[in-house]
Amino acid sequence: MAERISLPDLRGDIAACRICRDNPLRGPDDRLPHEPRPVAVISETARILIAGQAPGLKVHESALPFNDASGDRLRSWLAVDRETFYDSDKFAIVPMGFCFPGYDLQGHDLPPRRECAPHWRQMVMDAMPQVELVLAIGQYAQAWHLGGRRAKTMTQTVRDWRDHLLSNSPPRILPLPHPSWRNTSWLKKNPWFEAEVLPVLRREIERLIT
Ligand code: SF4
Repeated sequence: MAERISLPDLRGDIAACRICRDNPLRGPDDRLPHEPRPVAVISETARILIAGQAPGLKVHESALPFNDASGDRLRSWLAVDRETFYDSDKFAIVPMGFCFPGYDLQGHDLPPRRECAPHWRQMVMDAMPQVELVLAIGQYAQAWHLGGRRAKTMTQTVRDWRDHLLSNSPPRILPLPHPSWRNTSWLKKNPWFEAEVLPVLRREIERLIT
Protein backbone atom coordinates (compact mmCIF):
# COMPACT_ATOMS: atom_id res chain seq x y z
CA MET A 1 0.00 0.00 0.00
CA ALA A 2 1.32 3.48 -0.87
CA GLU A 3 2.48 5.45 2.14
CA ARG A 4 0.26 8.37 3.00
CA ILE A 5 1.95 11.75 2.61
CA SER A 6 2.19 13.77 5.83
CA LEU A 7 0.01 16.84 6.11
CA PRO A 8 2.92 19.31 6.37
CA ASP A 9 4.50 17.78 3.25
CA LEU A 10 1.21 17.85 1.40
CA ARG A 11 0.61 21.49 2.34
CA GLY A 12 4.11 22.36 1.15
CA ASP A 13 3.69 20.47 -2.12
CA ILE A 14 0.38 22.19 -2.84
CA ALA A 15 1.80 25.63 -2.01
CA ALA A 16 4.63 24.98 -4.48
CA CYS A 17 2.37 23.64 -7.25
CA ARG A 18 2.78 25.40 -10.58
CA ILE A 19 1.19 22.82 -12.91
CA CYS A 20 -1.25 25.30 -14.45
CA ARG A 21 1.54 27.75 -15.16
CA ASP A 22 4.24 25.36 -16.33
CA ASN A 23 2.40 22.35 -17.71
CA PRO A 24 -1.23 23.17 -18.46
CA LEU A 25 -3.33 20.24 -19.64
CA ARG A 26 -4.53 21.99 -22.79
CA GLY A 27 -1.14 23.32 -23.81
CA PRO A 28 0.77 26.60 -23.45
CA ASP A 29 -2.13 28.76 -24.69
CA ASP A 30 -4.12 27.68 -21.66
CA ARG A 31 -1.56 28.72 -19.05
CA LEU A 32 -2.94 30.26 -15.87
CA PRO A 33 -2.70 33.98 -16.67
CA HIS A 34 -1.17 34.85 -13.31
CA GLU A 35 1.14 33.34 -10.71
CA PRO A 36 -0.59 30.39 -9.01
CA ARG A 37 -1.57 30.96 -5.39
CA PRO A 38 -3.17 27.78 -4.06
CA VAL A 39 -5.71 28.39 -1.30
CA ALA A 40 -6.77 25.36 0.77
CA VAL A 41 -7.17 24.59 4.46
CA ILE A 42 -6.16 21.00 5.10
CA SER A 43 -6.71 19.80 8.66
CA GLU A 44 -5.76 16.89 10.87
CA THR A 45 -8.79 17.24 13.09
CA ALA A 46 -11.68 18.88 11.23
CA ARG A 47 -14.69 16.58 10.92
CA ILE A 48 -16.27 18.82 8.27
CA LEU A 49 -14.84 19.47 4.83
CA ILE A 50 -16.13 22.40 2.81
CA ALA A 51 -15.58 21.39 -0.80
CA GLY A 52 -15.97 24.56 -2.81
CA GLN A 53 -15.35 25.48 -6.41
CA ALA A 54 -12.30 27.75 -6.88
CA PRO A 55 -11.10 31.00 -5.33
CA GLY A 56 -12.33 34.28 -6.76
CA LEU A 57 -10.08 37.29 -7.12
CA LYS A 58 -10.71 38.56 -3.58
CA VAL A 59 -9.78 35.20 -2.14
CA HIS A 60 -6.74 35.00 -4.43
CA GLU A 61 -5.55 38.36 -3.12
CA SER A 62 -6.16 37.62 0.56
CA ALA A 63 -5.39 33.85 0.49
CA LEU A 64 -8.35 33.43 2.83
CA PRO A 65 -11.02 31.06 1.47
CA PHE A 66 -14.60 32.34 1.28
CA ASN A 67 -13.42 35.82 2.28
CA ASP A 68 -16.20 37.38 0.23
CA ALA A 69 -19.97 37.78 -0.03
CA SER A 70 -20.33 34.06 -0.87
CA GLY A 71 -18.51 33.26 2.37
CA ASP A 72 -20.85 35.53 4.33
CA ARG A 73 -23.85 33.68 2.93
CA LEU A 74 -22.23 30.30 3.55
CA ARG A 75 -21.50 31.23 7.19
CA SER A 76 -25.12 32.26 7.61
CA TRP A 77 -26.22 28.89 6.19
CA LEU A 78 -23.94 27.13 8.67
CA ALA A 79 -24.85 29.53 11.53
CA VAL A 80 -21.20 30.07 12.45
CA ASP A 81 -19.18 33.26 12.86
CA ARG A 82 -15.92 33.99 11.04
CA GLU A 83 -13.78 32.88 13.97
CA THR A 84 -15.40 29.45 14.05
CA PHE A 85 -15.42 29.14 10.27
CA TYR A 86 -11.68 29.81 10.06
CA ASP A 87 -10.81 27.44 12.91
CA SER A 88 -8.98 24.70 11.04
CA ASP A 89 -9.62 22.29 13.91
CA LYS A 90 -13.28 22.52 12.97
CA PHE A 91 -13.43 23.10 9.22
CA ALA A 92 -11.20 21.95 6.38
CA ILE A 93 -11.78 24.11 3.29
CA VAL A 94 -10.60 22.56 0.05
CA PRO A 95 -11.94 23.80 -3.30
CA MET A 96 -11.94 21.71 -6.48
CA GLY A 97 -9.34 24.06 -7.96
CA PHE A 98 -6.94 25.64 -5.50
CA CYS A 99 -6.00 28.68 -7.60
CA PHE A 100 -8.05 31.57 -8.95
CA PRO A 101 -8.71 30.44 -12.55
CA GLY A 102 -9.15 33.94 -14.07
CA TYR A 103 -12.08 35.33 -16.02
CA ASP A 104 -13.91 34.32 -19.17
CA LEU A 105 -14.71 36.79 -21.97
CA GLN A 106 -17.87 37.91 -20.16
CA GLY A 107 -15.89 38.73 -17.04
CA HIS A 108 -17.20 35.74 -15.07
CA ASP A 109 -14.92 33.48 -13.05
CA LEU A 110 -13.75 30.51 -15.08
CA PRO A 111 -14.47 27.01 -13.76
CA PRO A 112 -11.90 25.32 -11.50
CA ARG A 113 -8.73 24.39 -13.35
CA ARG A 114 -9.13 20.89 -14.72
CA GLU A 115 -5.57 19.98 -13.72
CA CYS A 116 -6.17 20.37 -10.01
CA ALA A 117 -8.62 17.74 -8.80
CA PRO A 118 -7.12 14.80 -10.77
CA HIS A 119 -3.71 15.63 -9.35
CA TRP A 120 -4.48 16.57 -5.76
CA ARG A 121 -7.93 15.64 -4.57
CA GLN A 122 -7.52 11.97 -3.72
CA MET A 123 -4.27 12.78 -1.91
CA VAL A 124 -6.04 15.43 0.12
CA MET A 125 -8.91 13.10 0.99
CA ASP A 126 -6.51 10.31 1.96
CA ALA A 127 -4.70 12.77 4.24
CA MET A 128 -7.91 13.62 6.12
CA PRO A 129 -9.51 10.28 7.04
CA GLN A 130 -11.22 11.89 10.05
CA VAL A 131 -13.61 13.90 7.85
CA GLU A 132 -17.19 12.80 8.54
CA LEU A 133 -19.18 15.27 6.47
CA VAL A 134 -18.37 16.84 3.09
CA LEU A 135 -20.34 19.91 2.06
CA ALA A 136 -20.18 19.54 -1.73
CA ILE A 137 -20.78 23.04 -2.99
CA GLY A 138 -21.76 23.32 -6.64
CA GLN A 139 -21.56 20.97 -9.60
CA TYR A 140 -17.79 20.38 -9.65
CA ALA A 141 -17.55 19.25 -6.03
CA GLN A 142 -20.72 17.20 -6.46
CA ALA A 143 -19.33 15.50 -9.58
CA TRP A 144 -16.16 14.43 -7.78
CA HIS A 145 -17.61 13.50 -4.40
CA LEU A 146 -20.85 11.89 -5.60
CA GLY A 147 -19.67 10.47 -8.92
CA GLY A 148 -22.45 8.38 -10.49
CA ARG A 149 -24.81 9.17 -7.61
CA ARG A 150 -25.13 12.74 -8.86
CA ALA A 151 -28.41 13.59 -10.63
CA LYS A 152 -28.53 15.20 -14.08
CA THR A 153 -28.96 18.71 -12.68
CA MET A 154 -27.49 20.49 -9.69
CA THR A 155 -31.01 21.28 -8.45
CA GLN A 156 -32.02 17.61 -8.46
CA THR A 157 -28.73 16.60 -6.84
CA VAL A 158 -29.41 19.03 -3.98
CA ARG A 159 -33.05 17.87 -3.83
CA ASP A 160 -31.75 14.33 -3.25
CA TRP A 161 -29.86 15.57 -0.17
CA ARG A 162 -31.56 13.15 2.21
CA ASP A 163 -30.39 10.10 0.25
CA HIS A 164 -26.82 11.37 0.24
CA LEU A 165 -26.77 12.44 3.85
CA LEU A 166 -28.19 9.12 5.04
CA SER A 167 -25.78 7.07 2.94
CA ASN A 168 -23.72 4.57 4.90
CA SER A 169 -20.47 5.08 3.01
CA PRO A 170 -18.29 7.54 4.93
CA PRO A 171 -17.74 10.42 4.65
CA ARG A 172 -21.34 11.50 4.22
CA ILE A 173 -21.87 14.05 1.45
CA LEU A 174 -24.31 16.94 1.62
CA PRO A 175 -24.71 18.64 -1.78
CA LEU A 176 -25.33 22.38 -1.61
CA PRO A 177 -25.77 25.11 -4.21
CA HIS A 178 -23.03 27.70 -4.46
CA PRO A 179 -23.72 30.56 -2.03
CA SER A 180 -22.81 33.12 -4.69
CA TRP A 181 -25.08 36.14 -5.26
CA ARG A 182 -25.62 34.66 -8.74
CA ASN A 183 -27.66 31.93 -7.08
CA THR A 184 -30.03 34.32 -5.31
CA SER A 185 -32.73 33.63 -7.91
CA TRP A 186 -32.14 29.87 -7.50
CA LEU A 187 -32.75 30.25 -3.77
CA LYS A 188 -35.97 32.15 -4.42
CA LYS A 189 -37.17 29.49 -6.87
CA ASN A 190 -36.33 26.67 -4.48
CA PRO A 191 -37.63 27.74 -1.05
CA TRP A 192 -37.49 24.11 0.16
CA PHE A 193 -33.72 24.52 0.39
CA GLU A 194 -33.82 27.09 3.18
CA ALA A 195 -36.89 25.50 4.80
CA GLU A 196 -35.74 21.86 4.77
CA VAL A 197 -32.00 21.64 4.22
CA LEU A 198 -30.64 24.50 6.31
CA PRO A 199 -32.13 23.38 9.66
CA VAL A 200 -30.61 19.91 9.19
CA LEU A 201 -27.32 21.39 8.01
CA ARG A 202 -27.11 23.62 11.09
CA ARG A 203 -27.83 20.72 13.43
CA GLU A 204 -25.10 18.64 11.77
CA ILE A 205 -22.59 21.48 11.96
CA GLU A 206 -23.32 22.15 15.61
CA ARG A 207 -22.92 18.46 16.43
CA LEU A 208 -19.65 18.09 14.53
CA ILE A 209 -17.91 21.20 15.86
CA THR A 210 -18.77 20.71 19.53
S1 SF4 B 1 -4.95 25.16 -9.71
FE1 SF4 B 1 -4.18 23.34 -8.66
S2 SF4 B 1 -2.99 22.22 -10.21
FE2 SF4 B 1 -3.22 24.35 -10.93
S3 SF4 B 1 -1.39 25.41 -10.20
FE3 SF4 B 1 -3.02 25.73 -8.70
S4 SF4 B 1 -2.66 24.10 -7.19
FE4 SF4 B 1 -1.56 23.52 -9.05
